[in-house]
Amino acid sequence: MHEFTIASSIVNSLLEALEGYPGAERVDEVDLVIGELSFAGIEQVTYCFGVLIEERKQLKGCRLNVTTEEGRAHCKECGYEGALNMGSGPGYHHILPVFACPKCKGEVDITAGQSVSIRNAKLIIKDEVD
Ligand SMILES: [Zn+2]
Repeated sequence: MHEFTIASSIVNSLLEALEGYPGAERVDEVDLVIGELSFAGIEQVTYCFGVLIEERKQLKGCRLNVTTEEGRAHCKECGYEGALNMGSGPGYHHILPVFACPKCKGEVDITAGQSVSIRNAKLIIKDEVD
């Protein structure tokens, strides 16, 4: 369900982007960045996106290129700055982990890897010479 929500918001963003470009006919390709702390499964997002674009002629056939972004944090206690040890055991998607500093177990601020964002979208502009 989480991934479906993410895929829906990507579709909405792309449709909005299209409206912002007069003459843009459809979206051909999208580069998406999925942060590992967003807990979105790449395969599920890709699948949901594929289902959603089937019914949108402006997006049909659009390619989705997904890259991942490492989760990073800044520790409020010891000043550690860097990757979080996320682990990858089964159930990892179902438990909301408490993020803690890998060095001192202190409280951290997440600085990267929490979001899903569109980095680039390739629009097809209508050929005006008919
Ligand atoms: Zn620390």
